[in-house]
This record gives sequence, structure tokens and C-alpha cells, in this order.
Amino acid sequence: MPNKSAEKQPLILVCNDDGIDAPGIQALAHAMTDLGEVFVVAPVDEQSAVGHAITVRDPVRARPWPFTGSDKIKAFAVTGTPADCAKLAVNQLLPRHPDLVVSGINRGPNTAVNVIYSGTVSAATEGAILGIDAIAFSLCAWHAEEYDDAARWAQQIARAVLTGGLPPGILLNVNLPDLPYIEVKGIEITRQARSRWEESFVERADPQEQPYYWLSGRFINLDDGEHTDLDAVERGAISITPLRIDLTAHDLLDEFRQWEWDKPT
Ligand code: MN
Repeated sequence: MPNKSAEKQPLILVCNDDGIDAPGIQALAHAMTDLGEVFVVAPVDEQSAVGHAITVRDPVRARPWPFTGSDKIKAFAVTGTPADCAKLAVNQLLPRHPDLVVSGINRGPNTAVNVIYSGTVSAATEGAILGIDAIAFSLCAWHAEEYDDAARWAQQIARAVLTGGLPPGILLNVNLPDLPYIEVKGIEITRQARSRWEESFVERADPQEQPYYWLSGRFINLDDGEHTDLDAVERGAISITPLRIDLTAHDLLDEFRQWEWDKPT
């Protein structure tokens, strides 16, 4: 919850997984300057699809970074994952506990099962674990060059969260259609679509003629139900999915308690 009694303006941490030089984080950080004091702490290199990995066997380094286009924004580039960035920022680099963590704007969607693999979502998840309101933003386009329209929507959504606050343990996963600001068909609250990747590996030979493998795959939407993230974005709306950091299947606890787990065989 934002500290409404604080005299200082809100402190906003901006992370991503595409790397500190990605156009999406540039647009997001600049959009956040209207809402508060902005710190960018992001991976020095792209860390897409690392999920919630954290670095425990290597040192993590952070160095001040000249963030393009604004001397108002303080920035650090980190030799780690998106979750490392959020942890290091909150525990070490920021002047005080932040009021909001925003992550993105990711290049490409983080809808459906992709939430599991996403580094963008994981930076926000880490924020939620640390007790901070957090939002992940992804633009549903792989080759977008322009993130300003998405960032304008991101600013509106972030303002609403700063005002209203999120319940503990909840973060928002926002997927934005690749449309001009005024053509977006509103905001829909959605659930993750059921989906999976049909994986395939390309096998090639290295210069020593040893085989190596390159993951490729095809995304399969298994869900034709209503109110999914995929469906909202396909219709040109912004999808907001509230996510829990508690992965427990609460609805199945009683059922599993009835199993005879300790029955001798
Ligand atoms: Mn990414």
C-alpha cells in the first residue's frame, strides 16, 4: 500500500527483462516521472524467459547507468536476473522502500502460460513478495519500435494502483495490444488462458561437430472460454490479470487430505 502520509512523492522502481537499453523500459521510466521519483534497476543484458531465477553462485554487480533522455531518472545496470534487480534495488540501491514496482514494458506478450517463463512478470512478483505494489507490463508485439502509447496506458494503470493500493500478495499482469492510444478498446479484467507450447528442438553441429540444440516451439491456445488474457488482447483491449504469489491450489486441499497417503502397501 502506498504511504499516503509521506511528504515525499512516491518512489517508483522500474525493472524489466529486455535489458536496460530496451525501448520499452525507456518509455515506461519516462512515463513514471509524472507520478513520482523514478529509479531504474534493470539487467545490463537481455534476460527474457529466465523466469524467477536468482543469482546465488556468482557475484552480482550494479553500476550507475546514464539513462537516456532524462537526468531526473537514476539508473543502475545489474549483472543479474530481473528478480535479482528487484531484490538488490529494494535491499541495497534505493534510498527508501519503494511505493511501487513496475516491470517492462516487455517486448512481446506475457499472456497465458508465458507468465511462468517471464522475467518481466518475475521482477513484479519479487516486488509483491517484498510487500510492494507491483505491475508487469507487456506489449503484445515482437517488433514494436514505439512504446509511447503503451506507456501512456501504463501511466494511467500505475496511477490507479498508487491511489487504490493492491491487496497483499497480489500483483497485476498487464498485456497491452499494439494499437495507438485512442484505438485501444478499453481495459478488461481477465484470467490466464489455458495454453501450452508445443516444443521442438533444432539440432545442429558446432565447429567441433558436436551436436547442440536450440529450443523452438509453437504456442497453442487451449482455451475458448470467456474473459481470458489472450481473448482480450486479440479484441484490441488491455488485459489486466491479478496474480497471486501463493501458488497453492486452495480448492483442492480437502480433496488431497482425504487420500490415504500413509496406507501400507
Ligand atoms: Mn522480455
